[in-house]
Amino acid sequence: MARYSGPVCRLCRREGMKLFLKGDRCYSDKCAVEKRPTIPGQHAKLKPKQSDYAIRLREKQRLRKIYGLNEKQFRNYFFLADKMQGITGHNLFSLLERRLDNVVYRLGFCDSRAQSRQLVRHAYFQVNGKKVNIPSYIVKKGDIINLASKENIPVIITQSLEAVVRRGVPEWLELNVEDYKGVIRQNPERLHISYPIQEQFIVEFYSK
Ligand code: SF4
Repeated sequence: MARYSGPVCRLCRREGMKLFLKGDRCYSDKCAVEKRPTIPGQHAKLKPKQSDYAIRLREKQRLRKIYGLNEKQFRNYFFLADKMQGITGHNLFSLLERRLDNVVYRLGFCDSRAQSRQLVRHAYFQVNGKKVNIPSYIVKKGDIINLASKENIPVIITQSLEAVVRRGVPEWLELNVEDYKGVIRQNPERLHISYPIQEQFIVEFYSK
């Protein structure tokens, strides 16, 4: 399935929640979900009662859109999480958070996961001293992520880092702004991820 390339705020309005796809704007009063909290489209006001299936589908779609994945990729993560030891929903969050494009975004090198995916693909980052250009690369505790070259640093990176100094990084990560370097202090757990997603619904969606 092709990746969605339309206006991303529409996705948030469709899901009725902030998916944080536009960097600093998402934290401002310009956020479309706050300005227009309605479903986009002509029949926005007609909200039929949702079936159990629709509720579970929406929850899955929300999480999938937050991480910018297509259905096949997302389903593969789910089945991988299901095979791992522990709670499937928690494993799913942990896997998604440990994607290299997400870590680059969480460290504040980019404003959005879409941006970080592009920079990772162009080999802007190293993991443990080696260039990695695979956005889905899974990092682990102790890994060091840094900018491959400190020459000609793109403006989007310097601007994003200024913003993250204000917002901070998650506690499972450590950022050294001067060295353009981040460290995975521990593998992320469910309690580190604040999205209001009910992962049990996603487990039920795929378990049918
Ligand atoms: Fe979603 Fe961010 Fe747009 Fe708000 S500003 S609707 S959170 S993408």
